[in-house]
Amino acid sequence: MPIAGRDRLFPRVSDAEWQDWRWQQRNALRSLEALERLIPLTEDEREGSKRTASVFRLGISPYYLSLIDPDHPFCPVRMQAIPVRAEAVAHEGELRDPLGEDLHRPVRALVHKYPDRVLLLALDHCSVYCRHCTRRRITGGAEGGITREELAEALGYLRDHREVRDVLISGGDPLLLSTERLVELLEGIREIPHVEIVRIGTRIPVCLPMRVDDTLARALRRFAPLFVVTHFNHAKEITPEARAACEMLVDHGVPVENQAVLMRRVNSSVQSIKDLMQKCLTMRVRPYYLHQMDVAEGLEHLRTPLSQGIAILQGLRGWTSGLAVPHLAVDLPGGGGKVTLQPDYFIERRGDRTLLRNYRGEPYAYPEPRETDCRVPYDEVFYGPPPRAPAPRRSLRVARRSS
Ligand code: SF4
Repeated sequence: MPIAGRDRLFPRVSDAEWQDWRWQQRNALRSLEALERLIPLTEDEREGSKRTASVFRLGISPYYLSLIDPDHPFCPVRMQAIPVRAEAVAHEGELRDPLGEDLHRPVRALVHKYPDRVLLLALDHCSVYCRHCTRRRITGGAEGGITREELAEALGYLRDHREVRDVLISGGDPLLLSTERLVELLEGIREIPHVEIVRIGTRIPVCLPMRVDDTLARALRRFAPLFVVTHFNHAKEITPEARAACEMLVDHGVPVENQAVLMRRVNSSVQSIKDLMQKCLTMRVRPYYLHQMDVAEGLEHLRTPLSQGIAILQGLRGWTSGLAVPHLAVDLPGGGGKVTLQPDYFIERRGDRTLLRNYRGEPYAYPEPRETDCRVPYDEVFYGPPPRAPAPRRSLRVARRSS
């Protein structure tokens, strides 16, 4: 039986040190030389680490490193943590800011792209620098950190924008802030009456689960409704430590959701996504999104065809619990926002019947109702008069013709 990663790689580290997230941070592997002392690298990884050194940080917590299979270059943890040559290759059409966030940054620490929600960039560093990171223009460190003054400026923006009801705190990884600093930030947000919900986007339960302790979980609970949105990509990441971190949050009343990213040869099969989603549910983490990889610099080798994501969803829907089926989301390149895709179950319309296929491909008819008026009479009592329909947006084509 192979020796567990921690015993093999860090035999002299005490339990107290291992469980101390600050020890993990201080001892993160940040260079090719440090990495090579512990793991035999392939030539592709060695070259990849050299070629990407000036482009994106290398950083792996000892805990996450201990999950790597030293004997297999396609270990899904390894592929998320160690660069390869392909990451340094540029392709036409790749974007540095694939979601067009910088077009919607009214102040430096905040992105306001959707009508009622914003992204708050709390800091620029992470416990592990994921090779698939699409926000590397920020997490790469080239922008410089986010200062207290910039966060105060973001809170000022929030106070002035009453339409914002949902704040997603991300970065970088917000749970790398000290608990005191995080509480200070959350108190600032909670003082704004129109902010209804807060979300924290974090990979801490995956890459540094020892950061989640009773103190942190209690602190987060104070700010309910607050959701933690984490980022498991493969069942290999669901270790007893990761499970304990997620369950600690849920036990304290903090709901946890998972956003996975679909990556070619990392998790791009029905089997691996189904296993991941099912295991998330066993630790009471709700599968939320399965993201199509963004068209970002250095990530061509990890992208899958759209049809593969749809085929994976087809392999889930009906074949496992509906709770284990995430939304397959495509964040449109250039900032168009998210759209979701799913298999097409529609066959045809026959008179008042619609023919659909079930998850096994068998046809079934759904009889349409005789009455089709779906207005809710009580809406006007409950919500008041209906809002005026927004003016239709002129398409580019129409605008050109009339000019
Ligand atoms: S934790 Fe998130 S922000 Fe940080 S490197 Fe990974 S994907 Fe990027």
